Order: sequence, then structure tokens, then C-alpha cells
Amino acid sequence: MSLNSVERDRRFYLNPFTNLVAKETQEHLVISRGRGVYVYDESGREYIEGMSGLWCVSLGWSEERLVEAATRQMRELPYYHSFTGKLPDVTVELAEKLMEIAPSPLGKVVFANSGSESNDTAVKVAWYYNNQLGRPEKKKIISRMRGYHGVTVISGSMTGLAYAQSGFDLPMSRVIHTDCPHHYRHAEPGESEDAFAARLARNIDELIQKEGPETVAAFIAEPIQGAGGVIVPPETYFRHVQPVLKKHDVLMIADEVICGFGRTGNMFGSQTLGIEPDMMVVAKQLSSGYQPISGLLLSDQIYNTLRDASGKLGMFGHGYTYSGHPVPAAVALETLKIYEERNMVERVRELAPVLQDGIRRFAEHPMIGHVRGMGLIGAVELVKDKATKEQYDPSQKAAATLVSYAQKHGLIVRALPMDAVAFCPPLIIEPSQIEEMLARFALALDDTAKHFGVS
Ligand code: PMP
Repeated sequence: MSLNSVERDRRFYLNPFTNLVAKETQEHLVISRGRGVYVYDESGREYIEGMSGLWCVSLGWSEERLVEAATRQMRELPYYHSFTGKLPDVTVELAEKLMEIAPSPLGKVVFANSGSESNDTAVKVAWYYNNQLGRPEKKKIISRMRGYHGVTVISGSMTGLAYAQSGFDLPMSRVIHTDCPHHYRHAEPGESEDAFAARLARNIDELIQKEGPETVAAFIAEPIQGAGGVIVPPETYFRHVQPVLKKHDVLMIADEVICGFGRTGNMFGSQTLGIEPDMMVVAKQLSSGYQPISGLLLSDQIYNTLRDASGKLGMFGHGYTYSGHPVPAAVALETLKIYEERNMVERVRELAPVLQDGIRRFAEHPMIGHVRGMGLIGAVELVKDKATKEQYDPSQKAAATLVSYAQKHGLIVRALPMDAVAFCPPLIIEPSQIEEMLARFALALDDTAKHFGVS
């Protein structure tokens, strides 16, 4: 094919999360359109989008009601801000709807445009809160290895993955990391899931004591760690962790950017995993990814403290030009209505066994060391040796190889750190489409086994 406009433009595009050195030689997949759970590249080839894009397109690629909601809002009020006491009406309505479905005692929301920004806001709120309470030292944030919280300076610091930090002078000194709750990789021989969870909670306790409880403001966690490898913690993990946080007056921030809005079989992952958040961050499925919008939900207690502080300081000086933008707000509101009308949480519960049992069929495969997941999110972890759990050398790019074979078979899945490959299909997927997705994956796995000489 001669150089068409797309190919020419590509040379000017800094493609995030790719190896920029390899970029010129790398095959790019340029997507032109989508329909249901399928997307189509510029040559018209179909792919099952097994990742909902970046874990966000819950309602698939052709939800007309969201298109109409955006169009209507563009005509009615294409922009208004949320500064100085003014508000778009639709944004107020969205806040009310969110409060209706949020776990109590979260009673206020502050909007932004991305998960990173809202996590950033959560940290600023924790700092502002402690300043108001006369605890200016209480500022450190604990996050977990392999957690993903975004890429702004502070959210990138909290992300416990090397790529978000190497070369960027991160993490900042106020952020400290604790263990990743991945039992398969990090448990001691013979250690039960519960004993592992209890040990990790003790480690957090010791870390807080070592740092000084008067210096630790908050702990941030995804209910299920997504981009770090779809790591489902032991069932009792948060039950062990939360009393430690309470004891030291450390706020619990739940990062629901992936787990929120039905993904795990409850409206929020916090409900599935037993988290009682003081703050909760939502994004992605909030608008089915059709428009950029995120929110930070706050407990009344935190809000009241901020309000008192702003009384002293004159204002709460935080917010963006596009915070609570009416167009994404209208789309998010329509998305939440659709979740309710179509009983989406129940649907996830019904579909979960099709995906979860389906991926567990791969557990027997010689290259698969671990299979995990919950609701409509899951992953397989590739190993070189099942008995010892030895991994492939990173230079062999085992997971990336599997993902590129999957692409050849018309399936988009994602390679994550330590050779995990994730599934996170749109919530509207049909059982037969899950089976088709798994069938395409099985072909890719066979190709990958051949590639690595595994039989
Ligand atoms: N938190 C989690 C759990 C995420 O998965 C992501 C994005 N993958 C983010 C935060 C950051 O969101 P964004 O890319 O919208 O900044």
C-alpha cells in the first residue's frame, strides 16, 4: 500500500506505552470503526475487543443512546464550568445519580477528566484534610507494588510499576510502596491465602509504625489490581488491612477506575472485596469510555473538613476547566441509566461463570501457570516451568507474543507485566461471543506454544 494519510500521520504520533525506539519498525493497528464488541481496522478486518479498549467500553461500540445523549447536550449546552458556584444542570443530575448508587457514607463528588487526575485530586484532598486538622506532617501515601493509579506526577508515583517511574524521577518521596497481594507469586510455601493476607496487613502495620503514623495520610488500592496483572487479592485481604488503617487514622482510597460499575459482579469492586472507602475514584465505565470523565467521591466527614478549611483559606482552589463538563456528564448519566434499566450488574453475575470457567480451562496448558479473575475480568499468567513457576526471560516477550498471535486470530487482549494476559470484555458481550473469544485465544496459545517449542 502506498503511503496513505494515516501512515504519514503515524510518523508524527508519539504512541504512548510503546517502545519508542521500536516504533518505526513496529506493526501498528489502526482502528477505524466499532460495532458491538467488535472493532475493525483500516483494512476492514474484524477483532473481538477482549479488553473493552482500555477496560472502559462497557456498552460496546455502537450504543446509540450515548451518541444521542452527547448530541442533545452539544445542542443544549455544549460547555459550562463548575467554578465559583456555577454548575451545568446535567452535572448536578449526574452527581445525584452517583450518590444514589455509591456505597455510604460517600456523599459528595468532585469531577475531573481522567483516572489519573482524580487520583491526584484524592491525594490533594488527603493533604488539605490533614492540614485543616492541624497535622501538617501526615502526608505520606502508601500504595502497592503492581498497583496502577495513572501517570500524573503523583498518580505515577503511586503506580507500582517500573515503566511509570523509570526515567521520570518518580516516585516522589511522599509515596511509599507495600506488597502486592498476589498469592500465587508471593506466598511462602504452604501459606494459606488468609495467612498471606494477614502477613501483608502486618507488613503495612510495621511500615506505618516505621514511618511514624503521624506522617501517613492514606492508603490507595484497586479492589482488583488491573494493569499490574489482574491480581485478585485473597478474600480476607481488605478485612485484615482496614483495621490497621483505622488504628493509625490512615484514609482508605479505593481506586475503582477499572472495577467500578459492574465489572466484578457488584456495582463497585469495593462491595465485592469488602472495602469501606473514605474516598473512591471512578472513571472509564462511568461513561462507557465514550467521553472523558472521572470523579472522586468523598465521605461527608472529609467534605465537612474541607469546607471548614476553605472557610479559613477563602476557597477550595482545585478544579479544571473541563471538570464536570456537560457533554461527558450527559453521556455518563445516560450510561448509568442504561446500567440500571438493563440490570447490568445482574448480567455480569450471569455471564461471569462463562468467562471464569472458560479461562480456567487453560490452566492445564503447559505454558499457563495461573488463571485468575472475577466477574468479567480475568487473566492468565504464562510461565516457562509450571512446577517452579519460573518465568520466561523478559527479552523473550512471551505475553506480547501471545497477544500478537491473538491479534492475527482476530482478538484483542493485552499483555501485562510479568507475562499476564488480560481479558476484560464489554459487559454487553453474549455468552457465544465469550466462547468465540476463548476459541480465538486457544488458537493463539497453540501458535505461541509452537513459537516457544512447548508441547
Ligand atoms: N486507576 C486505574 C485502576 C486504572 O486502571 C487507570 C487507567 N488504566 C487509571 C487509574 C488512570 O486512568 P487514566 O488513564 O484515565 O488517567
